[in-house]
Amino acid sequence: MKVTVITGCAGFIGTNLSLKLLKKGENILGIDNLSSGSERNLKILRKYKNFEFLKKDVSKKIKIEYKNIDKIFHLASMASPKFYQRYPLETLKTNFTGTLNMLEVAKKTKSKFIFSSTSEIYGDPLVHPQSENYWGNVNPIGIRSCYDEGKRVAETLTFEYFRNFKVKVKVCRIFNTYGKFMSKDDGRVVSNFIVQALKNEDITVYGDGNQTRSFCHIDDLLNGLISLSDSKDDFTGPVNLGSEEEIKIIDLAKMVIKLTGSQSKIVFKDLPKDDPVKRKPDLSLAKKVLKYKNSVPIEMGILETIEYFRGAL
Ligand code: UDP
Repeated sequence: MKVTVITGCAGFIGTNLSLKLLKKGENILGIDNLSSGSERNLKILRKYKNFEFLKKDVSKKIKIEYKNIDKIFHLASMASPKFYQRYPLETLKTNFTGTLNMLEVAKKTKSKFIFSSTSEIYGDPLVHPQSENYWGNVNPIGIRSCYDEGKRVAETLTFEYFRNFKVKVKVCRIFNTYGKFMSKDDGRVVSNFIVQALKNEDITVYGDGNQTRSFCHIDDLLNGLISLSDSKDDFTGPVNLGSEEEIKIIDLAKMVIKLTGSQSKIVFKDLPKDDPVKRKPDLSLAKKVLKYKNSVPIEMGILETIEYFRGAL
């Protein structure tokens, strides 16, 4: 009986990935300390007989009894600027010590290690779109550094385990992703705008709204993650996963107002420090090696997410 470990199983991507693999019949051992993951998500996962849960902080010593672990999706980390800026030291520990601990598990059990890195490793990029061979423009001492540098060092650890211990590692850099099971108060732009619109509250655009992001629907991301885990052992990445559909934040606000039929007004707030001006992945590598494609256009995906939040509120 093979087991797939998913750290951060109660978070947004973790819940969606767990559900998809559980439905395929895989045995999942989910690990989460529920610092930003939700009990509500976990309750849904617990309904599956092939799901087992371990409440655990990955940055603490971790002992997993299973000998038959086949692969580890290491997703655990706070990922929303609002949360990681509130808990910077925890975020650093999760990404350094937590990744080290999970790499040790992968080494002992000879399992595949799929690490979810981030577009944030490119910082406030000076190259556009961002391809995997761009080394980034990251402030090492700013308010986003705990996440950016945390993920960068986690990538470094992952590649050291590959070089030194031949662990079968795979690294993906996930760009902005949205969809069902996002937490309504995690502070990120898609959930903020939709929740504000549904409550007819002001839509808070930070800065002038001309900064861009490229939003990927969770279903497309999951297909990418699973193709990556199934890819040949000699494919380590890093590989970008996301969407090339770049949009200004102000236009996202207008789209959400239109699609919800909301009475909300747009208000402008201060732009947080070090907020990247532009972000869009170069997906050539993912398309070539993983046959990755985006099949959910943004309006359709946002509409579906609006319906999810309508139910969740
Ligand atoms: N943003 C915004 N209003 C909000 C939340 C976020 O204008 O209520 C902006 C934020 O400043 C950034 C973009 O939306 O430019 C994406 O922010 P998010 O926190 O979702 O993710 P990031 O890509 O910055 O990690």
